[in-house]
Amino acid sequence: MKNVLDDCKDPMGAAIYDYYKNGKAGKLRVFSPDFDEDEIPVKELFRDFGQMSQIEQLALRRAQGQILDVGAGSGCHSLALKELGKNSKAIDISGLAVEVMRQRGVDASVTDFFDPSFTGTFDTIIMLMNGAGIIGNIGNIGNFFERVDKLLNDGGVVLMDSSDLKYLYEDEQGGYVFNLAGDYYGQMKYSMKYKNIQGEPFDWLYIDFDTLSYYSRKYGYNVVLLHEGEHYDFLVELSRI
Ligand code: SAH
Repeated sequence: MKNVLDDCKDPMGAAIYDYYKNGKAGKLRVFSPDFDEDEIPVKELFRDFGQMSQIEQLALRRAQGQILDVGAGSGCHSLALKELGKNSKAIDISGLAVEVMRQRGVDASVTDFFDPSFTGTFDTIIMLMNGAGIIGNIGNIGNFFERVDKLLNDGGVVLMDSSDLKYLYEDEQGGYVFNLAGDYYGQMKYSMKYKNIQGEPFDWLYIDFDTLSYYSRKYGYNVVLLHEGEHYDFLVELSRI
C-alpha cells in the first residue's frame, strides 16, 4: 500500500509551504466529529529545539546512530538533530512538506511509513507530536510493529509520544465513562482545511500506556515509559524483547 497525499488535498503541507515562503500562513483548521473546530498554529510546526516540549527535547537527546524521523512535517526535529550533530532521514506523505524540508537542508523523501517498499535500517525511529497518531487505529497496530521490525537495526529503538485521552471521558465523581461498545476511546477521526484546500478524513490514534504495553508485548516489544508530560502526554521507548 502506497498512500501519499495529492498536493490539492494536502492542507497541512500547503500551510507549511506558505509559512516557509512568506513567513506567515492562514488558519490551519482541524475538524473532528468528536470535538469543536480547532486550529493548529502553523508557526509551531517550525519550532526550534528551545521551543520544544521536554518530551521532544528528551527524545532528540536520546536519539542516536542512523535516525528515521517519521511524519517529519516542516523538518523541525531533523533540523534540531542536525544541530546536536546527529544524522537523520525524514519521511512524510506530504510532497509539499518534503519540498520545504529539502529547501531547509533536510534529507527528506515523500514516503508512507507503511509502504512495504520503503526499506532501510535505523538505530532510532522518532515519531513525535503525538507520533502514535500515524498508527491511525488499533486495527493497524500489528502492521505498525511489522514495519518497525523491518526498519530497526538490532538493538534499535522507537521513541514515540502519545496522550491518554481518558480525561475527555471523566465524570463529576472522577470516574471514567467509556462507550465499551464503541471503538477504542483514543481513536479519533480528523480532517483539516487550509484556505480552500480540504483534506480527506483520516484516523489518528492516541494510545494510553497500558494499551500500548499490551500490544507491544503481543508483537514482541518492550516498552519503557521515559517521561510524562503535564497533560496526560508521555514518551516511550520501544525495543525488541
Ligand atoms: N513531526 C512533525 C509533524 C507532525 S504532523 C512535528 O512534530 O512538527 C504529522 C505529520 O505526519 C504530517 O506532516 C503528515 O503528513 C505525516 N504523516 C501522516 N501519516 C504518515 C505516514 N503514514 N507516513 C509518513 N508520514 C505521515
